[in-house]
Amino acid sequence: MESYTIHDYDVLVIGAGGAGLRAAIAAIEQGARVGVVTKSLLGKAHTVMAEGGMAAAMGNVRPEDNWKVHFRDTLKGGGMLNNWKMVMNYTKEAPDRVRELERWGAVFDRTPDGRINQRNFGGHSYPRLAHVGDRTGLELIRTLQDHAVKMGIHAHMETTIYRLLTDAGRVVGALGFNRQTGEFLVFRAKAVVLATGGLGRIYQITSNSWECTGDGFSLASMVGADLIDMEFIQFHPTGMVWPPSVMGILVTEGVRGEGGVLKNSEGKRFMFDNVPERYKGEFAETEEEAERWLQGDRNARRPPELLTRDVVARAIRKEVNEGRGSPHGGVYLDIASRRPADYIKKKLPSMYHQFMKLGNLDITKEPMEVGPTCHYVMGGVRVDPDTQATNVPGLYAAGEVAGGLHGANRLGGNSLSDLVVFGRRAGMAAAEYAAKQSGSYQVDEAQVRAYIAEALQPFNNPQGENPFALMKELRATMQKNAGIMREEGELKAQLEILANLKKRAWNTSVSGSRAYNPGWHTALDIRLMVEISEAVVLAALARKESRGGHARLDYPDPDPTFAKINHIIRRSSDGTLTVVAEPLPEMPEELRKIAEAKDLKELSDKVGA
Ligand code: FAD
Repeated sequence: MESYTIHDYDVLVIGAGGAGLRAAIAAIEQGARVGVVTKSLLGKAHTVMAEGGMAAAMGNVRPEDNWKVHFRDTLKGGGMLNNWKMVMNYTKEAPDRVRELERWGAVFDRTPDGRINQRNFGGHSYPRLAHVGDRTGLELIRTLQDHAVKMGIHAHMETTIYRLLTDAGRVVGALGFNRQTGEFLVFRAKAVVLATGGLGRIYQITSNSWECTGDGFSLASMVGADLIDMEFIQFHPTGMVWPPSVMGILVTEGVRGEGGVLKNSEGKRFMFDNVPERYKGEFAETEEEAERWLQGDRNARRPPELLTRDVVARAIRKEVNEGRGSPHGGVYLDIASRRPADYIKKKLPSMYHQFMKLGNLDITKEPMEVGPTCHYVMGGVRVDPDTQATNVPGLYAAGEVAGGLHGANRLGGNSLSDLVVFGRRAGMAAAEYAAKQSGSYQVDEAQVRAYIAEALQPFNNPQGENPFALMKELRATMQKNAGIMREEGELKAQLEILANLKKRAWNTSVSGSRAYNPGWHTALDIRLMVEISEAVVLAALARKESRGGHARLDYPDPDPTFAKINHIIRRSSDGTLTVVAEPLPEMPEELRKIAEAKDLKELSDKVGA
């Protein structure tokens, strides 16, 4: 019989990215004993890759900025499908969370008069992103990690959670294994916070790190947690397209924020022709006006390269499809002709090195070739807007794995501040819940043994399939059939492919020992990846319109019927997933006025923002 080690915590946090670390700190502050589990090493979570900055309406660069403007921008960018209460909590609290990071040692870039500097990003009306060059995620993780370790987290590194454990309908812990040794670990916990990040790896072309296999969505759904709006996947407009080995790696929006422009093969700045009706009047209409904006003229409007990501990604796709793309299937992003070399190297050091090292290209001299890459998932585990509690007692979710804040499309910079605002709320609420649970917790040994047997099954299945081949097939077909542009026939075909892959995912074969066995890890990853891919495709089929990160060739426009509907993806007791349309929660009148203000002038006239 397989042995396992048991660890006991009040709160178990799964994930050591920004959300997980902030949740752990908050739970410890409440007096909870906290364990943190991560697939990689502390300091290596995907958050470390974040570049451009964290959005918070601090008003350091433009005093006119405040939470109301951020509230309107976030809802407008999200196609109004965001949970209004989450957006309110988020936009009000984000500045405090940034200042708190500074108190804990984060060293942000400064304005000339010594305040935290803020940069422009798509969809934000004012410069709003606190940043550290283009390495903001690294500073965020370094600061949170130092603080969490000082406060006494117990970290389990290189440990993968395979299943959540339940007792009488509530979550009471998790089963995992140490990737280094293959040893099984049982975590008994009164509350669990999922902070497992995104799912970009279900697509072939992605900016996401290897950890982003979407485990948390499936783990939650498998114990009965509702998911929300899984059709909304963000394809970031600017990923590297050349050479093939680096395809998908992110080119930060900070390049456009610092003045970079998009051009097609004819040298035309095509974004001027792609301003959607809802943004008409808010963006520069000529290159001359955009140039004045770059030079600091406050009466000039922002360049259309700073439209939201969904808009820019689709415009790029259109240029390429219509034959005006670059040689390797992208378009050109030019900062070289806009800013001096020294400025580029100071403000975008990672981009400079990334292109030098990976593409043999000097971005201070030549334009980059860029194209869309799967970047972020707006949907996620459905949570309470105040506590981040899921519908399953004992289970909380925060960060990219949680849904609701970003609606149909996330604004750049709105994730890093999401992590600290809602990570903190989740940690506090989980600790409070844990404190109310009396007595010691017993996990069901039969459940643990069954899951261990399930996890080891690929070692005892010599005729099974190669898990790497299945992974390749999943990612290629999701890219082709459920990618940036979707239509009914392909989505239905993908559902059939997934049904087939689901069966095959439980019939893989691996050999060798359990220590550092990538074949085994892939065999277990693929089971969860197929589950979450199905949720994405089902929700995409159900939304017969185009909005934000969800674009349908057969329904190319937004449809008012879907304008007030969230999709809840629910698992029934026999394991099947269904999509339920649910009306958006009613927004109070005073907030509606803010959200629906026609422009910034109306916002300031009518609600004093
Ligand atoms: P992550 O940082 O992804 O951490 C997830 C954690 O969960 C990891 O520790 C992982 O090991 C662990 N985990 C996952 N599954 C398991 C499991 N089964 N068992 C145990 N542990 C598990 N957003 C911004 O706001 N501003 C930016 O400038 C920005 N730049 C970005 C640049 C890039 C290249 C990318 C890809 C994204 C960027 N984003 C940015 C988005 C942002 O970085 C992410 O949304 C955010 O970091 C997610 O943080 P998280 O804490 O939710 O999860």
